[in-house]
Amino acid sequence: MTTMRKSVVLLSGGLDSLLGLWLAKQQGQVVLAVLANYGQRAFKKECSAAQHIADWAEVPLQIIALPWLSQWLPVGMVADNESPKQAATADVWVPNRNGVLLNVAAAAAEAMGASHVVFGANLDEAAGFSDNTQQFVDDTNAALQLSTQTGVQVWAPVAGMTKADMVALALENNLPLQHIWSCYNAGAQHCGVCLSCQHLKQALRGHNSAAILFEK
Ligand SMILES: [Zn+2]
Repeated sequence: MTTMRKSVVLLSGGLDSLLGLWLAKQQGQVVLAVLANYGQRAFKKECSAAQHIADWAEVPLQIIALPWLSQWLPVGMVADNESPKQAATADVWVPNRNGVLLNVAAAAAEAMGASHVVFGANLDEAAGFSDNTQQFVDDTNAALQLSTQTGVQVWAPVAGMTKADMVALALENNLPLQHIWSCYNAGAQHCGVCLSCQHLKQALRGHNSAAILFEK
């Protein structure tokens, strides 16, 4: 069904995109992983995580700079704001981020002859963010049919999974969870209190690997 799909993977360095990349490699060829730099506070941490993951997967990583987007970041995501206490979706919403990122990656995919853009949308994110829902994926795909000549499509291989499902799958298959970066902050370790850390902590509950990411 998904024989040798050729894809470009949107990599953030977090759990969702690690699983997306791994599944995409199981089912085809990944020609490029893309990490966006839009001025997010955690960029350097994401970059280091993404590089580790890309090296592990033996996939080239390209950093795409989107400096114009940084002017519209919410306070909770700004580089020099060090308060590690966001809990609400509105505090971390980057204007049209996934819309922008998918289209950037789709441009790369079209140019490189890849049929798919791998996107880490999942059930947990879909519950809080409209740009992680199946509806968003479907509607983006309808637009991409017209905005690319090759009909590049978004592929969300973890769309039916929760973060807990992904943690279980990652542990079962020895994926490098110790290298992920999911935190909105840029401390030495995951802050444990931001919205993203809260979700990850919940998913890791009961697993020893929680200690790798959250303990000093
Ligand atoms: Zn955090």
